[in-house]
Amino acid sequence: MTSPLRRPLIAGNWKMNLTLAQSAELARAVAAGAAAASGEVAVCVPFTAIPVVAEVLRGSPVRLGGQDCYWEAQGAYTGEISAGMLKDAGCRMAILGHSERRKLFGETDEHVNRKLAAVLKAGLTPIVCVGETLDERETQKTWRVLETQAAGALKGFAPADLAPVVLAYEPVWAIGTGKTATPAQAQEAHLFLRAQLKKLYGEALAAGTRILYGGSVTADNVDVLMAQPDVDGALVGGASLKKDAFLRIMGFQAA
Ligand code: PEP
Repeated sequence: MTSPLRRPLIAGNWKMNLTLAQSAELARAVAAGAAAASGEVAVCVPFTAIPVVAEVLRGSPVRLGGQDCYWEAQGAYTGEISAGMLKDAGCRMAILGHSERRKLFGETDEHVNRKLAAVLKAGLTPIVCVGETLDERETQKTWRVLETQAAGALKGFAPADLAPVVLAYEPVWAIGTGKTATPAQAQEAHLFLRAQLKKLYGEALAAGTRILYGGSVTADNVDVLMAQPDVDGALVGGASLKKDAFLRIMGFQAA
């Protein structure tokens, strides 16, 4: 069970899925279930669905997020969306450095760091993703990867700047594969990340930063994951598209 210093957060990552009508329908179901949630709830939706979902979520405690953004505020950056544009469209959060963006679109720790600055400046809550590949885990590089990605993303900020940051530990081998980290593996990695935060930015930031677990979270495994003392929530991909599964995840019972 997470510390009382940290309010649990369940965030759905819809990735590149759903029509506008389907987005509105799912958002309506999430909003209707919010009163029974065990913590804060967010949905991070495709850019095109943001206005529609923002309208559905108006007046609901469910937060809306984007899945990425660019670091410049405006200008000749064809195809990009700025943090300020996300905010203007009704978002309060943004996922940064998801492993799919790192792997498929060449995103580096430096890119994530620049995006983080833009997101914080816009007053959004960033969800910064870190995680090792299967090969890195099998060759004992997990801690080095987590240390490098976390330090790289958070570089150059003062601890007070980083207060809104949410970290997400997302082992790449567990994303969309149906293979979940064991609760012990998740706890070990979260504890390691919290120790990194303490080393770099001090005890107060480390104790107050929410660290989500992501990687094949389902209605069946959420309770044992949420029972770990350093697991403060979940970033949920596939299961966030299934209404009943996501509502059950939102209502987790830390076993
Ligand atoms: C994700 O993409 O952030 C994720 C955790 O996906 P899934 O839950 O489908 O593994």
